Amino acid sequence: MLGLLNQDPPLVDHDHEHDHSAWLSGRGLDVTGEACGTQSCPVIPQYGSRSLVDELLDRPKTRSPPTQLLVPTRQSHEVPVLFREAYIENGFRAINQPWQYYVCSFFQLHNESMNVWTHFLAAYLMAKKLVVFSQYIDFWNDTYSWTFLTGLGSATLMYATSTGAHWFQSHSEFIYYLSFMLDYASIGLYSFSSVMLHYTYSADKQVYEYMRDIYQPIGAILGFLTCFCSVVGLVLLRLEYPRARKACQTIPVAFIYILLVSPILHRIYMCQIHDMECELSIDLHTQQIIWFLLSALFFVSHFPQCVLPGCFDHFFHSHQMFHVCITVSTLHQMDAVFEDFFAREEIFRTRSTPTATDVMLPFGFILLGEICTIWCFLNIANANLALEKVKPTSITDNIDVNNNIANDAVNSQHSESRQN
Ligand SMILES: [Zn+2]
Repeated sequence: MLGLLNQDPPLVDHDHEHDHSAWLSGRGLDVTGEACGTQSCPVIPQYGSRSLVDELLDRPKTRSPPTQLLVPTRQSHEVPVLFREAYIENGFRAINQPWQYYVCSFFQLHNESMNVWTHFLAAYLMAKKLVVFSQYIDFWNDTYSWTFLTGLGSATLMYATSTGAHWFQSHSEFIYYLSFMLDYASIGLYSFSSVMLHYTYSADKQVYEYMRDIYQPIGAILGFLTCFCSVVGLVLLRLEYPRARKACQTIPVAFIYILLVSPILHRIYMCQIHDMECELSIDLHTQQIIWFLLSALFFVSHFPQCVLPGCFDHFFHSHQMFHVCITVSTLHQMDAVFEDFFAREEIFRTRSTPTATDVMLPFGFILLGEICTIWCFLNIANANLALEKVKPTSITDNIDVNNNIANDAVNSQHSESRQN
């Protein structure tokens, strides 16, 4: 079983790499060998280098004419390699369609539907928790509660950006990169907010005193690295080195999770081993840890789809299971912190009164670093895409491509006539 879990095939289909017509059509280039006949006329690529502003505003140089709102889904080999997933064979949405198609695809069954729906529900539940908790906590006036507010806010933001990424990723390669980079940025912010939540409200006095000068800077650095490493993996490693990319995503998360869960583990240890008082929140914290570990297992594996490829394309593949588990984990986390907020007031309210600057400044630094990272790597991704789309670059290469297409057509006609 472990062998199956560790199988991680590269997403590049090398059989298709040498097929020029598939290569070109897969990238949206308009190549009509028929129009040029056997004459060597140069192919003029319709895509060039587009600025980020062009891409963001979606000013197309060429784009498919509008089609019907619900386009049938595609098989794996019918979409560019960037959109393919290991062991997922069907249910891919068409790319380069009008925006309204992707908006309406919320109600269509495709292989991202469950990912969209699960985190849409998670964002709703987290926002609802914020509303319910605000009936018991004065988030406006109680400055000690602001850390809790940022935790709930960043968790809601994380699920909202994840929903958006899975919802709109199929629009184009550029949107794929952008939407997942924003997703990683929000994961970095949420991870840091979790460190703050646990050390502020849930840590025992001695753990807090021991870590008080270092948990915030270490958490901020790891929160930034969570985003940075995921973005690097997405742009530089996704296609050729999927395992290295997975490592880039998981290692910073593993480190920041160890940091944020340490005060909780200390309390569980004191409760279970030393028979100290076990507060109500301990059960909730324990469930948070169990669901998180389960989510990590699904995230790093391709189980269950690696066992039966193509059978879990729409329901219950590993990323959907990861979504469900991490949602349950964070909901338990917020309930546990809510319990601690009232049960352990005498601990955190004796500390100095936090100001808005104290609470928001570290988030500002992380956000600044994330914006710079996204800007740099979005430019790199955009340049790579432009480079791919203008291949072959020389007129001579273009002539060769056209000749190849024409030769392929002639050869296939010959073989067909031989078969007949
Ligand atoms: Zn996801």
